[in-house]
Amino acid sequence: MSDNSVAGKHILVTGGASGIGAESALLLSKRGASITLADLNEVDGIALAQRINDEGGQARFVKVDVSDSASVAALFDSAINELGNIDVLINNAGIDHDPKFMLEIDDATFHKNIAVNVNGVWYCMKQALAHMMQNGGGHVINISSVAGIRAAPTLSAYSAAKHAVVGLTKSAAVEYARHNIRFNAVCPSFIRTPMVENVLSKLDKRGQKALLKANPMKRLGEPQEVAGAIAWLCTAESSFMTGHTVVLDGGMTA
Ligand code: NAP
Repeated sequence: MSDNSVAGKHILVTGGASGIGAESALLLSKRGASITLADLNEVDGIALAQRINDEGGQARFVKVDVSDSASVAALFDSAINELGNIDVLINNAGIDHDPKFMLEIDDATFHKNIAVNVNGVWYCMKQALAHMMQNGGGHVINISSVAGIRAAPTLSAYSAAKHAVVGLTKSAAVEYARHNIRFNAVCPSFIRTPMVENVLSKLDKRGQKALLKANPMKRLGEPQEVAGAIAWLCTAESSFMTGHTVVLDGGMTA
């Protein structure tokens, strides 16, 4: 097997029914990985698993709410019992919130963003860690955001959560490097997915134009462009990289 192969790897993708998670699952399955898709969205998750299997790949869907630790434990039990070793976890499930200044964001919105985007990543990291410690290694790829490395005006709750994801990634990377378990974060800017289409639909023309041109490339990223970087991280070619934040932003933070 060449260093750039994912063939035969079992990769668990949370939030795998849509957007970046779905594109990553499609690309990785085309390259020979077995995929467990995990998502709240059962309809799209089952349909995507079916599509991957119809196209000659190997995928299964498990419904999960990543903000519920018992639901996450059941997901990992199911994935390990069915397919054995989990080689890579792509910790991708996430939500955003309506763009508002901090004083207008209610506590429930803040808590929901922390529950899904931080607690969800935490629960999945801990399950993956326990499993990977027993299995001699693995790789956890946490999907953060440019909002996790710089200010995100009107998205403060989301930004707080995504900064926490980077902190968890870096600390775990240092703690578990000697156990052959790697942790990296991926930080995209605006990518054309249902999440961003929803944000665009709530903005006026001026706001839409500003968002679309928010980086030097003057365009949204495509989910395939994030999936490509994630797929590379899943290979042994990235083997010396841990505790890193891979920024995919069309030059926005340069
Ligand atoms: P998306 O298209 O909305 O996909 C997210 C998926 O996660 C959806 O299928 C969603 O299900 C699922 N999900 C939400 N809450 C969940 C929960 N509690 N448990 C399990 N699954 C849950 O979003 P995306 O744009 O691909 O985003 C993927 C990740 O990239 C997120 O972490 C996001 O913050 C991050 N990101 C996105 C962008 C961007 O511009 N798109 C930029 C930076 C970072 P439902 O549809 O049922 O809610």
